Amino acid sequence: MNKKIWLSSPNMGGKEDIYVKEAFDTNWIAPLGPHVNNLEQDICNYTGSEHCAALSSGTSAIHLALILLGIKEGDEVLCSSFTFSATANPIVYQKATPIFIDSECETWNMSPLLLEEAIKDRINLGKKPKAILLVHLYGIAAKMDEIMEISSKYDIPLIEDAAEALGSTYKGKALGTFGVMGVFSFNGNKIITTSGGGALISDNEERIQKARFLATQARDNAPHYQHSQIGYNYRMSNICAGIGRGQMEILNDRVSQKRSIRSFYESIFQDIDGIKVLKEDSNVSFSNAWLSCMTIDKEIIGFDREALRLAFEEDNIEARPLWKPMHLQPIFEKYPSYIDGTSEKLFEIGLCLPSDTNIDDDDLIRIEKVIKNKLV
Ligand SMILES: *Cc1c(COP(=O)(O)O)cnc(C)c1O
Repeated sequence: MNKKIWLSSPNMGGKEDIYVKEAFDTNWIAPLGPHVNNLEQDICNYTGSEHCAALSSGTSAIHLALILLGIKEGDEVLCSSFTFSATANPIVYQKATPIFIDSECETWNMSPLLLEEAIKDRINLGKKPKAILLVHLYGIAAKMDEIMEISSKYDIPLIEDAAEALGSTYKGKALGTFGVMGVFSFNGNKIITTSGGGALISDNEERIQKARFLATQARDNAPHYQHSQIGYNYRMSNICAGIGRGQMEILNDRVSQKRSIRSFYESIFQDIDGIKVLKEDSNVSFSNAWLSCMTIDKEIIGFDREALRLAFEEDNIEARPLWKPMHLQPIFEKYPSYIDGTSEKLFEIGLCLPSDTNIDDDDLIRIEKVIKNKLV
């Protein structure tokens, strides 16, 4: 069997185990410690955000962001439909109602037109949505000027799920820093990893302090264990933060590698009608190219994305369909949605290509061979 080629696997820079060893040597083996504080500072320095809380996952960061905005039972939250379920699940943890918004076809992210249509309609129905939960899918910035304008016009706070977009910018500003809060994930498949982890960023210090408080079981200031609120165990461990510190040092290298993998696909497909590689509008944004994605027009090409995925699988190469939209998921289809068919179509015709920064030249040759064999 050929060596497995992954979609996106962990890739250590070299310093991670030194930081982890330091944690062992100093016995900081807990969900607090110097690496946690330092990683938070590193994330602030990198993104330009004022404050950061390192957490156990991106999902916990989204959950805390909703709690901090006071989202509760019966509230409505406008949410990108084209995403991973982890974006929407915390809305339901709060017993609130997700209102799913479809994508526009340029960035594949939340359509500003449908967003505004939804807001007007929900207000007409008697309930103003409490928050917008916007995703920057595959590292590509959403249409931020339009989204920000709608957020301020209707005075609805924006949370950015930038779990896939650490290292991406819009008009030179880091994704995650546009909304009242931003979320990153350091899961094993993301552009950098802490094995599992996440972060919540904000320019509002009080919010981040409150996030840390809630993430460590909401202990009141007392010598005994005293609680006036429901707490969570959502803090990042000092061991994981040690990995994160090493990873932050090589984040820009990973972004360059991801972008050159995408260039490789662009060059393979450049003269092929009916195949498109997802790319940002470089006039306004810069993408970390977390996953290279393509769409295949079956009418022109003669096979669909599933045929190409299976051809990859046969050669022990991982490729995946794009995210299946939330409004089509059995658990979420009952919720209101504002849909024009864009994300459903993308799901039908789109494929995530192997984008692993561990890929070497031999791997690229294997990948190219599978594609060329399919195309003849
Ligand atoms: C990975 C991911 C998350 C969840 O992050 P975890 O750290 O795995 O909890 C949330 N949203 C999106 C878009 C993601 O890709």
